[in-house]
Amino acid sequence: MIRLEGATLLTPEEECPQGVLCIDKDRITYAGPADGAPAAQPGDEIVDLPGRAIIPGFVNAHTHLAMQLLRGIADDVALAPWLTDHIWPVEDRMGEDDVLAGTRLALLEAVASGVTAVNDMYMAMDRVAEAIGEAGIRGVITQGLIGNADPGRGKLRVGTELYERWQGGYGGRIQVALGPHAPYTCDPHYLVEVAQAAKALDARVHIHLAETHQETRDLAAEGRTPAHVLLDSGLSEQPVIAAHYVAPAESDFALLEGMRVGIAHCPVSNLKLGCGFAPVARFRAHGIPVGLGSDGAASANVLDPFLSMKAAAWIAKGSTQDPTQLSARTVLRMATHEGALALGLADVGLLAPGFLADVVVVDLRAPHLQPVFDVASALVYTATARDVERVYASGRLLFAEGRHLLVDAPEILSQAQRAAQRIAQRQILS
Ligand SMILES: [Zn+2]
Repeated sequence: MIRLEGATLLTPEEECPQGVLCIDKDRITYAGPADGAPAAQPGDEIVDLPGRAIIPGFVNAHTHLAMQLLRGIADDVALAPWLTDHIWPVEDRMGEDDVLAGTRLALLEAVASGVTAVNDMYMAMDRVAEAIGEAGIRGVITQGLIGNADPGRGKLRVGTELYERWQGGYGGRIQVALGPHAPYTCDPHYLVEVAQAAKALDARVHIHLAETHQETRDLAAEGRTPAHVLLDSGLSEQPVIAAHYVAPAESDFALLEGMRVGIAHCPVSNLKLGCGFAPVARFRAHGIPVGLGSDGAASANVLDPFLSMKAAAWIAKGSTQDPTQLSARTVLRMATHEGALALGLADVGLLAPGFLADVVVVDLRAPHLQPVFDVASALVYTATARDVERVYASGRLLFAEGRHLLVDAPEILSQAQRAAQRIAQRQILS
């Protein structure tokens, strides 16, 4: 049994100063005040953590981890030319080794900043599954499907075979979804085929939806809305993770209420690509869970969940001129349990008995965090990824005091540098 003592716990109900968190194997068995905690037993590992906060691990609800290798390759460009002129041509020249190197690099950053679950869409997903497995966290993985370039449906087969190979892998840490990339890259017939495949497997669906206002206008010109895309194709018969959703049609809110849809809000990527502001408070008012995602490092440049939380709060307040929107506690919940719910991970993201022991210790003692009147406020508005001190996933310590304990970080960094050089060289030669 592991006992974390002396820190402020953010349990679902309250801030619990000087609390105790007990972990037995991969589960939390107790989270609350010291005076209600079970007595320590001989052999327990006791960690004393005064001045720290303990929170659930962050859930990155939408990302493309391997794009870590493309960080900074094309900044200050709009989404459509960014994809067609910059990203897709480079991705066409990336091999499986590049995907593995980029994903491992991304997971170094993610784990060190307190992320213990990711929802990833990319290619060469066997390599991504391996990287997530060796990093010790959990992940929902999805082969990205560009339907308009999948004439023999070979990619759709790759996506379904991935499900058969990896669903429940690494002791349940890997889940597999089917990933039609977006309505503008997958025609309606293709989306119907994906929906049928998802239904046959009983798989979750992961799709980019309403990522720009132009996308929603283009759908309107065809008499459709983003929510209608899910409904008409049959995709909404399965649970769906819709990434971005910055531009819902007015009628979408009511339609989404009747679906099992969760939204991955990616505020940093949306701001950087100039896509707009997802109406998060309105989605949540309709009972739709909204998690936070980074998107890939090629668009967002960072995977830092603390920055995603700040951006989500700032956008919600700034875009509505209402500073009461999305309190610090709400944003923390979105970054953890609500993101987990959007991914179908019901026992992830709360410090409560029975939940998986995905737990992050944040050091609040640094000058830039002092004084602390409200721990949730300090975590959302002040703390950064650099303040993460310890990260546990499934009760296993992955990262402590600046060091990765499961993976060889220097080796991963040098592999990533070599892969980035290969990509740069191919760019020059092409
Ligand atoms: Zn994306």
